[in-house]
Amino acid sequence: MNKFIPVCKPWLPGNEKKYVQEAMETEWISSQGKYIEKFEEEFSKFCGVSYGVSCTGCYAALHLACMAIGLKKGDEVIVSSFTMAAPLFAIIQTGAKTVLIDADNETYCIDASKIELAITNKTKAIMAVHIYGHPCEMSKILEIAEKYNLKIIEDCAEAHGAEYNGKKVGSFGDIACFSFYGNKIITTGEGGMAVTNNKEYYEKMKKLRNYAFEHPRFLHRELGVNYRMSNIHAAIGVAQMENAKTLVEARRNMGLRYNKLLKDVRVIKLPVEKPGCKNVYWMYGIVLKDEIKVSKDEIVERLKNKGVDTRNFFIPMHKQPVFLDGKIENSPNCNGSYPVSEKIGERGFYIPSSSNLTDEEAEYVAEKLKEVLETSF
Ligand SMILES: *Cc1c(COP(=O)(O)O)cnc(C)c1O
Repeated sequence: MNKFIPVCKPWLPGNEKKYVQEAMETEWISSQGKYIEKFEEEFSKFCGVSYGVSCTGCYAALHLACMAIGLKKGDEVIVSSFTMAAPLFAIIQTGAKTVLIDADNETYCIDASKIELAITNKTKAIMAVHIYGHPCEMSKILEIAEKYNLKIIEDCAEAHGAEYNGKKVGSFGDIACFSFYGNKIITTGEGGMAVTNNKEYYEKMKKLRNYAFEHPRFLHRELGVNYRMSNIHAAIGVAQMENAKTLVEARRNMGLRYNKLLKDVRVIKLPVEKPGCKNVYWMYGIVLKDEIKVSKDEIVERLKNKGVDTRNFFIPMHKQPVFLDGKIENSPNCNGSYPVSEKIGERGFYIPSSSNLTDEEAEYVAEKLKEVLETSF
């Protein structure tokens, strides 16, 4: 038997190929072309936000956002230690410093109750990364931002279509950043977008994205970057937007199906959905409880032998060699206490989570997982 269920594969159920072909045939293959603006319009509308700036990836979107709100050396941004590295890298690139706090033990998002303690007179912004499809506690984050006059950047790379109190993520922050990498819920292969209701930020990001060209062309008053998305990628995005609701619901249904299949397995922690939240289960993450004595590596290996692909949870940011070796002047302070991030980082992994995972595949994964766990005490 050589069954193999990958942890995630892209789903291109509509006009993706047709629109890419159209872009090719008309020879509009650079960042000029009709699909760019259409994708920006459709996607920002989907989020309930006025403007979208497409770019090469979520890192690019985050960096544009950090530049747009004016982050610079001496500034501080509060972020959870339990995240993918992109938001930290983007902040650090501007010269600002990240201040790490711990994650919430249930949602794995930033622990909003710890934000206020981390605020200093240098704090400029809060980075809210919605983890594995579950939204951060936005009402609390908005309240703190208002009280201390801080900006909010949302990293929604893992949460397209997720909702908090009936509003989509991406509509809460001053700027929100999305990824369209191949494993994200809406994909263009590679790509990203920054969305905002603020016209000034919108214009600034659009300009910076394209080398900060001014009029006349080849005149520059500030340092720009080249983060332009191609019309070919945007063509895929426009096709994805025609099925956006379906793509989000399919991902969520994958999660709900696992919730049912695994609800009686007491030795693992399943993803939660807090009241007022809509989890879109970007990746279906499970955390091994203390009763499990066999190492995570061993469990993951046994699953692999049965054809079930997995990925480890993030390694917390305070444990990253890049920040610990002292080479980067504005690295975060890594000597705080982050028990939740450490625990879930050590004991968590995700199981196959494609939007188009079949019932049969989900049942197979659940069955193999149960088999492996039963012999892991
Ligand atoms: C995937 C991801 C990113 C990076 O997206 P790219 O498009 O690959 O740059 C950023 N943040 C989070 C939380 C992610 O999961």
